[in-house]
Amino acid sequence: MKKKAIALVSGGLDSLLAAKVIMEQGIPVEGVVFLMQFASRDIREFTERVRQSANEANIPIKFIDMSEEFLGVLRSPDHGYGANLNPCIDCKILMLKLAKDIMKKENAGFVITGEVLGERPMSQRKGALDIIRKRSSLDGYLLRPLSAKLLEKTVPEAEGVVDRSRLLDLSGRGRSKQLALAKKYSLTKFFAPSGGCLLTDKIFARKLKDLIDSDALDPHNIALLKWGRHFRLDKATKTIVGRDEKDNMGILELKHRKDVLLRLKDDPGPYVLLRGNVSFKNIKKAADLLLAHSKSKRKSDAIVEYWTKEENKKELKPCAMDREKIDRLRI
Ligand code: SF4
Repeated sequence: MKKKAIALVSGGLDSLLAAKVIMEQGIPVEGVVFLMQFASRDIREFTERVRQSANEANIPIKFIDMSEEFLGVLRSPDHGYGANLNPCIDCKILMLKLAKDIMKKENAGFVITGEVLGERPMSQRKGALDIIRKRSSLDGYLLRPLSAKLLEKTVPEAEGVVDRSRLLDLSGRGRSKQLALAKKYSLTKFFAPSGGCLLTDKIFARKLKDLIDSDALDPHNIALLKWGRHFRLDKATKTIVGRDEKDNMGILELKHRKDVLLRLKDDPGPYVLLRGNVSFKNIKKAADLLLAHSKSKRKSDAIVEYWTKEENKKELKPCAMDREKIDRLRI
């Protein structure tokens, strides 16, 4: 059997430890980081942090974008969602199917993950681990070094490529053993254990559900979900109000050719973006939302500028929207 292993790396401690446990047996490991839109609010920062954690652990990695395939999984996951809109079981199956292709291409012998039996309620129960193993078509070639002694023997173990006696028997949600191992391998740059990607965030999941219900699930609309407060004006139309400078920059960067941007004239404050049906009625609603969220002290004589092209700015007089209406439109 070929000796090299493909490791799923996420930047979290478990995936790094799984790779280290295998590398310690003199087996070469190549790390793969699967990226998709929901990995983090700031993908550039995220990839940099994963790179640093893998470098520290001496794991060579490459990034693979699975955004397109993931959207299919997100729309209708065979195994449902977790607490929010996180289809963890189907997401893992997808990653492992892609890892299997890489394993073949790279002439590797098996795939490893940092999964720990019983660590997560949805995707790391024994039943879920079995489903993931079977559905990924990696049966026998998927090794989970951190819990291997509690799981069925894999082909690399049976063939003696991997010494099963040097694998681990971790289980449950406690982190003390992992932290002791981090010390042993001098790992410091791993991500803090968290709930997972953006899909596990309640507020983000609500905004995403609105996109799905409005048949508007596409990469441009998804990117916008990471910034600002979101309001639905009608089935085809949304308004996004920046909360701070970072939101404002995100909104500006993601403005589409047909989107309308709004901002108070003569008073810095939030940028507001209108996407969808950019009728004057909706522009006025967006301007009213803008004024309601502005800290301007001169609200009574405020003027809103709006434009699709910066050189064609127009003006209107807004009237701050009342709280009840804001709450009704809020996603
Ligand atoms: S938390 Fe997100 S990235 Fe992690 S397995 Fe679940 S859906 Fe996939």
